[in-house]
Amino acid sequence: MSEYQLRNPATGQTEATYDAFTDEQIIDAIGRADSAYRSWRTTPLDERVAALARVGELYRDRADRLAEIIAREMGKPVRQGLGEIALSADIYTYYADNAAEFLKDEELSVASGGSAVVRTAPLGALLGIMPWNYPYYQVARFAAPNLALGNTILLKHAPNCPESALAIEGIFRDAGLPADAYINIFASVPQVADIIADPRVQGVSLTGSERAGRSVGEIAGRHLKKAVLELGGSDPLLVLDTDNLDGVVSQSVAGRLSNAGQACNSPKRFIVVDELYDEFVEKVTAKFQRVEPGDPIDANTRFGPLSSERAVSDLLELIDDAREKGATIRAGGERYDREGSWMQPTVVTDITPDMRLYREEAFGPVATVYRVPDVDAAVELANDSPFGLGAAVFTGDEQLADDVADRLDAGMIAINGTGGTAPDLPFGGVKMSGIGRELGRFGIDEFANKKLVRRT
Ligand code: NDP
Repeated sequence: MSEYQLRNPATGQTEATYDAFTDEQIIDAIGRADSAYRSWRTTPLDERVAALARVGELYRDRADRLAEIIAREMGKPVRQGLGEIALSADIYTYYADNAAEFLKDEELSVASGGSAVVRTAPLGALLGIMPWNYPYYQVARFAAPNLALGNTILLKHAPNCPESALAIEGIFRDAGLPADAYINIFASVPQVADIIADPRVQGVSLTGSERAGRSVGEIAGRHLKKAVLELGGSDPLLVLDTDNLDGVVSQSVAGRLSNAGQACNSPKRFIVVDELYDEFVEKVTAKFQRVEPGDPIDANTRFGPLSSERAVSDLLELIDDAREKGATIRAGGERYDREGSWMQPTVVTDITPDMRLYREEAFGPVATVYRVPDVDAAVELANDSPFGLGAAVFTGDEQLADDVADRLDAGMIAINGTGGTAPDLPFGGVKMSGIGRELGRFGIDEFANKKLVRRT
């Protein structure tokens, strides 16, 4: 059974433990989410979006408290936590402002006569399974569009985020949504299988590891339920040409080290053409070596601990494997010598395909840098990954940028930047990075019944 526990990764201390739900509590929650759906779906859209707008306001009002919670739960520096909370608030506001437009009937031209529209209708109660790396944002991109549409939500958060999970539920309640439109459940993995199987639950959305994605996708398939899976990434960042290498280095380092590198769409593999490689490696290494770790609660801290001990040990295994097989560790490569789960920013070069780091996602502050002779080799290496979430391309040649964007196997391409995320832009990947899209207008269609209404 998953243990819901607040264990502060900056100190290693367990601060709170929460009881997991019993099977009876889970069954009760499913029943409540299902009956809430029946009234929520018929609640006028104006009322639904007004409640979501209040959710956004409450995130803004409570930002300091919410940032402090995740600093203690998973080590996110408060200044980055405040950024995540502002983004989450904007996602609720975005769907409050745009749902009416997204949910308008779409008229079809009917060759055989009569008229027809496609109506975007809700499906029912949904299960969300969310991770610890962006505890508020990950929930927002699932909850905001689906609540706007009229679906209701059972939310199983990561076991190390129990306080943020409860704070989120409290915001929905205080914003005036019906109590059972959003229900937090402290569920175990076996209980998750039972929830997906329950006929009252119509779909499941998971953000997390490939391992979790496979398991949830398999269970959803067995029960013919829709699944959206947002999994890992090992995003390439291609440096092809530039007249501002310092700017490219700054963006690469910031993208890699934000949230201590624990982001699915952070650039993880820097692929650099031969003539820029030495200078790029030297500058990135110098920046990584200058990073000062700090207490996540301190407003000036930019680099905190990793989320857990396991996060550190998983990364060290990847680095040790590369080191043993001949890679060069240019910076870091070890944990910091202090209590808690602290990992040095690490730069690795001379990576070969037999190393785990070549194929697996490094979910922490580890940058790998590859030297390539030309653009074709850069694209080939970028695509030689089981993942396909995002990719970044730096070049001053617009035609080349477009051409490379076409050739990269990824769900999101950033040109002369590192991408990121915004309420109005779709987010999602291909290959083992998952199935489906979140955010923007695409995000509201994933758990919708695209209902044909035809008049003859
Ligand atoms: P997990 O994928 O294990 O956990 C994410 C969520 O999925 C948690 O709520 C977890 O709950 C749940 N979960 C895990 N396994 C199952 C399962 N078989 N059935 C149903 N739910 C499940 O991530 P970790 O925290 O273990 O992180 C490990 C790796 O996941 C990282 O190294 C990274 O590669 C990837 N990851 C990707 C993220 C992204 O944004 N795409 C975010 C976080 C992690 P429980 O712990 O109770 O099992």
